[in-house]
Amino acid sequence: MAVADPMCLFCRIVAGQLPADRVYEDDEVMAFKDIHPQAPFHCLIIPKAHVATLNDFSPEQSALIGRLLLTAKRIAGEHGLPGYRVAMNVNREGGQVVFHAHLHVLGGRPLKGALG
Ligand code: AMP
Ligand code: ZN
Repeated sequence: MAVADPMCLFCRIVAGQLPADRVYEDDEVMAFKDIHPQAPFHCLIIPKAHVATLNDFSPEQSALIGRLLLTAKRIAGEHGLPGYRVAMNVNREGGQVVFHAHLHVLGGRPLKGALG
């Protein structure tokens, strides 16, 4: 697996140094509940390897990006979500606060409203 950043919150969760309410894990991907949920179901899906933002993925990591998205589908199925929202904030201007790339998966109630 690629490098972990010891200063990174989500790398520390991957390493088991910080607690998380895990909902899914495989060799490349991990998902856990968001600590401040914005919907009845709100989890984050991350690559286990440290990648700061979507802009930092290389073309060679295309399959990993696909895996993150398919993990959203899997988790939604496992949690019985008939519909859900997947979002990724990119850079501060895009609302990103934690600089280890992650997908938000939100559901558990009808979702509407503006995205931005
Ligand atoms: P973003 O604004 O896209 O960077 O989202 C970061 C998300 O991480 C926010 O929704 C936070 O509530 C969430 N978060 C921050 N710290 C933790 C943590 N220790 N465990 C779970 N979620 C966290
Ligand atoms: Zn990280």
